[in-house]
Amino acid sequence: MHKFQVATYRHLTPGAKGTGRIDTLVKTKSPQIIQQSFAITEQELRATHTLYPIAQKLMRGGVYLPNRQSMTCSRRNCAYWRHCEQEWGGEVPET
Ligand code: SF4
Repeated sequence: MHKFQVATYRHLTPGAKGTGRIDTLVKTKSPQIIQQSFAITEQELRATHTLYPIAQKLMRGGVYLPNRQSMTCSRRNCAYWRHCEQEWGGEVPET
């Protein structure tokens, strides 16, 4: 998911290189930081060209798809989770 976000920035921002890095702090006996660098491929950039127009078309038609992959999607964080489950099915996570 983070690559799609960075691909979006590359798409929208003139001069953006389309590279990113994830820093993960690992809680071990002696804490470590793990760094993972990546570059957006043309195929990943293409996804922004195809998916955003579809999302735009749906929204203009009054269709708003749920984003259950969001880090903030949970019963605890979202007041609409019951309605969301009723309309779209599936199960919203507790936390
Ligand atoms: S439960 Fe809330 S945050 Fe999760 S997809 Fe549905 S509307 Fe979005």
